[in-house]
Amino acid sequence: MQLTDVPEGPTNVRILRDGREIPAETVYTGRRPDGIAVFTVVNAAFIPGDQLQMDRMPARTAVVVSSPKIDRCPQGHPMTTDNTGIDQHGYRYCKTCHPDQEKPAHDLD
Ligand SMILES: [Zn+2]
Repeated sequence: MQLTDVPEGPTNVRILRDGREIPAETVYTGRRPDGIAVFTVVNAAFIPGDQLQMDRMPARTAVVVSSPKIDRCPQGHPMTTDNTGIDQHGYRYCKTCHPDQEKPAHDLD
């Protein structure tokens, strides 16, 4: 994002995490000493520390390029690639704790 493009107020954006689109809103919060613009993401499945790429993207689109490493779910299961899913809202979940999340919505009766 060019410096002159920094939106002043809340801005609706699309955040893509692992290929899933998350509706979100960003609020410009200031600029770091090194010139990087800092935004706070609100109303989104956003884990503090997620790094978003917004340059070289379509307008108002951001992609989660890295996330803090989380080793365990709240119940202590290892959050490995095999045991971690992404739900329809973009939240990560433990497949051991939430095996039902894997079912497609149309399978529910
Ligand atoms: Zn778990």
